[in-house]
Amino acid sequence: MEELIKTYQEACKKTTKKFEDQEKEIMTWGLGISGEAGDVAGCIKKTYSQGNDQILGIRENLGDTMWYIAMICNFYEWNLEDILNENIEKLKKRYPQGFDEKDADRGKERIDWNEKK
Ligand SMILES: [Mg+2]
Repeated sequence: MEELIKTYQEACKKTTKKFEDQEKEIMTWGLGISGEAGDVAGCIKKTYSQGNDQILGIRENLGDTMWYIAMICNFYEWNLEDILNENIEKLKKRYPQGFDEKDADRGKERIDWNEKK
């Protein structure tokens, strides 16, 4: 699995143009991921609110969203595998016995991403 994620992340690099401007690049990825996530939401809405089956679109746009995730990781030189592992560790801490609504609430605490954990 580790090799697959690394291979995917490297393959994504080969499917984009080279940016001269770093800010323009990260803004492209930031807006792009939002657009693709919006496409996922739109396909879900069409499927379940309008009776227009777009389930294959949900699937395809999840892949497109993943591409932007990989590109944001590439921009910051982060290993996507590390991020997935960190996320699993965070979830294990938050839900040691599996999902629980009380643990999900987190006491309405706000998160400061710059604060040391
Ligand atoms: Mg798409």
